[in-house]
Amino acid sequence: MSTYLALTLDPLHIGAGGYRLGRVDNTIVRDAGTGLPKVPGSSLAGVIRCYAGWNLEQGQTSCDKGNCGHCPICAIFGYAAGDDKSRDDKEKQSHIGLLRFYDGHILAFPVRTMSGPVWVTCPSVLAARGFALDETPGNEELLVNFDVNKPAGVKESRLNLGWLYLPCRKLKKTDLGLKLGKAAALLRRFAVAPDWLFGEIVNSNLEVRTSVSIDPKTGSAQSGLLFTYEAIPAATLLAFDIEVDAYRCQEYSADAVRALLARSLRLCATLGMGGMVTRGFGRVEFLAEEGK
Ligand SMILES: [Zn+2]
Repeated sequence: MSTYLALTLDPLHIGAGGYRLGRVDNTIVRDAGTGLPKVPGSSLAGVIRCYAGWNLEQGQTSCDKGNCGHCPICAIFGYAAGDDKSRDDKEKQSHIGLLRFYDGHILAFPVRTMSGPVWVTCPSVLAARGFALDETPGNEELLVNFDVNKPAGVKESRLNLGWLYLPCRKLKKTDLGLKLGKAAALLRRFAVAPDWLFGEIVNSNLEVRTSVSIDPKTGSAQSGLLFTYEAIPAATLLAFDIEVDAYRCQEYSADAVRALLARSLRLCATLGMGGMVTRGFGRVEFLAEEGK
């Protein structure tokens, strides 16, 4: 299993399919248990299948229908037999792909504070990725790896995360970013929130934008067509688990599959993924593969 860390370069909108929540018309996909926004493995699999088709080595061609059953993309990403009567019996069999994409989760989430941007995370999210902390924050406190500005005469360090104003304590070991990988170390300032509060902090600091449909006849805004949509903000650190089924690789070696995957992941930094990619959304930079 490999974990890929990724940084959103733009807001990322993976729509939940028109499900409305409070003031937001177009919501994003959330984990059912935690309520945290996530990137479904199926969304990443779809976009990587498409980019892999553009990334094939010279001489290799991909099917134009997307499901031919003969090309490298069908062999690596799988295909469904469908009910095309023109194929013979052998070709009617389906084939499961060699890559397994799991849901991408938020590892560290950027929040604006009076001390500048801070990347908030929590013990359970870190533990799920194999990053154990020596200390855990109290029920209503943050553990930070940097010095928080405090006004003269004030004893306790506090940090504001939107509507929350929490006391903070400095981590004994301040190399949390480095622990997460070289790429995450760039983010520098981390705050570890208690598990119960993490979802609240994320969900109350998502990007919410408003758009309006333009009437092509008048060129002006169409009345009644104002809509709002939410997104995971830019500079969010995500973690994706992707596995190559090496024991099933025959025609294409596991290394060749991994190389095609790496080239295709890189395209997400320019072509993006998810919704609203024509409106400045969706670019995601895959930073590094952290082996497990
Ligand atoms: Zn094909």
